[in-house]
Amino acid sequence: MNNLDKFIKLGTAGEGTYGIVYKAKNKVTGKSVALKRIKLEKFCKEDHTEGVPSTAIREISILKGLRHSSIIELQDVMYTSDRLYLVFEYLELDLKRYLDGTSKPVDKELIRSYIKQLCEGLAYLHTHRILHRDIKPQNLLVDKEGHVKIADFGLSRCFSLPTKSYTHEVVTMWYRAPELLLGSKMYTNGIDIWSLGCVMAEMFNKRAMFPGDSEIDQMFKIFKILGTPTEENWPGVTTLPQYEVSFPKWKATELKTHINFNDSEEEEFLKLMLVYDPFVRNTAKALLGTGYLKKAKLTAPDMKPFPDTTEEYC
Ligand code: ADP
Ligand code: MG
Repeated sequence: MNNLDKFIKLGTAGEGTYGIVYKAKNKVTGKSVALKRIKLEKFCKEDHTEGVPSTAIREISILKGLRHSSIIELQDVMYTSDRLYLVFEYLELDLKRYLDGTSKPVDKELIRSYIKQLCEGLAYLHTHRILHRDIKPQNLLVDKEGHVKIADFGLSRCFSLPTKSYTHEVVTMWYRAPELLLGSKMYTNGIDIWSLGCVMAEMFNKRAMFPGDSEIDQMFKIFKILGTPTEENWPGVTTLPQYEVSFPKWKATELKTHINFNDSEEEEFLKLMLVYDPFVRNTAKALLGTGYLKKAKLTAPDMKPFPDTTEEYC
């Protein structure tokens, strides 16, 4: 039996940057999986080979070796000459849909628990020298017990992050770190921490913290709240390629005037992530040592039970 024949497609789970994600069932084990199909023609050109680039195969085999409770498990990889199929464990909901679907503010203990699990996941990825580069609510999956898992990881190491997604939507920059917006080519672990900070703020407010609609608008949305960065709070910032001396000089404002915190401990914690200087920004490991995260405990979200999917071939 062809490996792909092991799966019955049950429906579409999502569409994103690289292709379609199907909900499918493994006929042998009966377990649900997410089957991510990536069309390859766009990516192969670079190294002039046919089929899956060898660099991608190497990277993906590294991802297959990762095991962590906060990281979606990549169970299998299959490929044909022009398609790559990645088989992941299946989780019902992404954090974006969860936030959109609840009218109440998110429980502060749930936020704490999610951030702890995500810091653990990032600490694990970063120890394995893997940057996620695209942490955002759509790429974080949740279940009804209170787990949150990082999805859509690592591929950005194989393929450059496109500016337009598979469905021709512009890839969001709302979670992009300021050093990247300013043209730094230095990709450090800090870019994932910045994005996680934006996700945390979004959980408090139930709307995105910096919803820019262009690179300049994105930068200015950040500057208006955190102040325009200076050589004092970010040594070297004025030498970054996209930095302009003509930038308006906004003063930093108080985070609590923009974010619905429950207490000052949350505010102090978030400030450790939304630091301009990527070298001063806290690492995932350092964040795990804070009193705020030490108090975290698994908290179940307020979530309606999911109906069983009817099996339909598609
Ligand atoms: P892309 O690289 O195209 O953004 P993702 O891996 O982020 O692909 O998947 C796109 C969407 O599909 C996600 O935002 C999520 O809603 C859904 N999805 C992805 N992986 C899973 C999974 N393992 N279980 C359930 N849904 C998933
Ligand atoms: Mg995605």
